[in-house]
Amino acid sequence: MNNALPFSNTELLNMDTPTFLQHIESTFQRVFADGVNLMEYLPENKWLELKQAGLLLPFLLEQHGGRKNNQFEIQEVLRIAGHYGVPVTLRTGIEGALVLQPLLEFGNETQIQQGLQSVFNGEGGGLAITEPKTSGSAIAREMQSYYEDLGDGTVYVEAEKYWQGNSQSEFLLVAAKERKNGRLSKMINLLFVPKQYIQFDVLKSEGLRAVRYAINRVAAKMPANAVMRLSENDALGLRAFQNIFIRSRLQLVGMSHGIMEYIVENTRKFAKKDIKFVEFECKEIEKRYAVSQVLYDYTCKHVAPDAPVSHQLMEANIIKTLSTEYTYDAAQILQKLLGAKGFESGHVASNIAIDFRPFTIFEGPNDMLYAEIYDQFTRVTAEEKEQGVKLDKNQTLLQRIKSDKRFTLTALKERVLPQDISEFLSRYTLSDADALKKVFLGKVVAKLFVFGQTATDDAAAFLLKNIRQDILDCEYC
Ligand SMILES: Cc1cc2nc3c(=O)[nH]c(=O)nc-3n(C[C@H](O)[C@H](O)[C@H](O)COP(=O)(O)OP(=O)(O)OC[C@H]3O[C@@H](n4cnc5c(N)ncnc54)[C@H](O)[C@@H]3O)c2cc1C
Repeated sequence: MNNALPFSNTELLNMDTPTFLQHIESTFQRVFADGVNLMEYLPENKWLELKQAGLLLPFLLEQHGGRKNNQFEIQEVLRIAGHYGVPVTLRTGIEGALVLQPLLEFGNETQIQQGLQSVFNGEGGGLAITEPKTSGSAIAREMQSYYEDLGDGTVYVEAEKYWQGNSQSEFLLVAAKERKNGRLSKMINLLFVPKQYIQFDVLKSEGLRAVRYAINRVAAKMPANAVMRLSENDALGLRAFQNIFIRSRLQLVGMSHGIMEYIVENTRKFAKKDIKFVEFECKEIEKRYAVSQVLYDYTCKHVAPDAPVSHQLMEANIIKTLSTEYTYDAAQILQKLLGAKGFESGHVASNIAIDFRPFTIFEGPNDMLYAEIYDQFTRVTAEEKEQGVKLDKNQTLLQRIKSDKRFTLTALKERVLPQDISEFLSRYTLSDADALKKVFLGKVVAKLFVFGQTATDDAAAFLLKNIRQDILDCEYC
């Protein structure tokens, strides 16, 4: 093993959490001391320096030579990276949550060693799921990429993938279905595909210039040990595939919260101080920040890198949608408050909104996730299923909120629902919503989940106002 790798550096592994995080913080300050141009590709030497200083070590489980498993450290490295711009934290998230975590969970020893060398000593890798010709929202159903076992120790892989973060790096983990006798199975597996098998057309993006994107194509025979089987069992395999996203959506709030802090800092630095309306808008940003803090704390407290997350699909979707929606809102408000400066290319705050916009699209577009939140809320939880609980579909949304432990376990005693919102929730039964209403009701459910946990009255009042807006949308759609 190469001793230059951070996971063989005992000093980095033995630091306690505050010392380690301080070390990451000061490494960022040193590496970006002369600033960084986020309108261009992030310089590879700076990125490598950060990785070699241990930026991604919290994503490396202890059993693979990483630091002690600690969710707080994962969230903190993402948050700290967010203070240096959207692409910086996004690259941390791509290589940590989308590459390292699935690689360590599903890869064999050879794939893991090759992947770790590329991530810690090279340009790293990306995760390739979405396809240009099918809807990214209907991943499992519509995916057309496949591999076929040729029986001679090789597989033939045919895949066309779209918008991969870290395209052109050293490898992609490519999602594909197995094809047997000319038919695609439902089961999705990952393939470890080194770059010599990948052809790409660079995608020119509106923002995120500091990350490379492309349409990636594979049509090649390669050793059969490229396949990373997620499970031997079809149903469990799909669940394992879904779990990659549950975990990464739960963790994504580390990135968005870091960006939120960066927005708050820049608001304080650049917004005019003596205009009443500007003051009001600055407070609007602060309220979104307060909600973001609740979401951030939820992940730190209720997620662990070595514990399963399959039971937290609703929570993951809530965290992903609300954290990205509120951060995107805050970025737009800041941009507006900067006036013409907010339109200057390269201004420290001008590209936050454009760079952040795809967070509301990737890892499941928010509108689809809101509809899913509603579905997950109106179905039995894993725990209820085990206890033989059957949900009465004629019960009202209010009754369900009161009986669903996911809402009661985390709720603060002082958070009581106002009458108008309770009345609205009493008017709908679990089976009342069509596909359109589900999106608005999902928004209501998501905000109620956070409302119960909100420590400050300001943030609680802000959520209630937002819920009332969603209720209006739901009533008038
Ligand atoms: C900057 C960026 C980075 C990305 N990074 C990666 C990556 O690293 N790897 C990768 O594989 N992919 C990546 N993607 C692709 C991304 O995951 C997909 O774009 C995303 O899943 C949405 O798929 P789509 O574009 O096909 O949109 P569609 O599925 O066509 O959806 C379009 C819109 O329709 C609406 N919609 C769709 N379904 C529903 C529903 N059920 N209910 C309500 N409304 C709905 C939503 O408003 C949605 O935004 C990235 C994309 C971008 C822009």
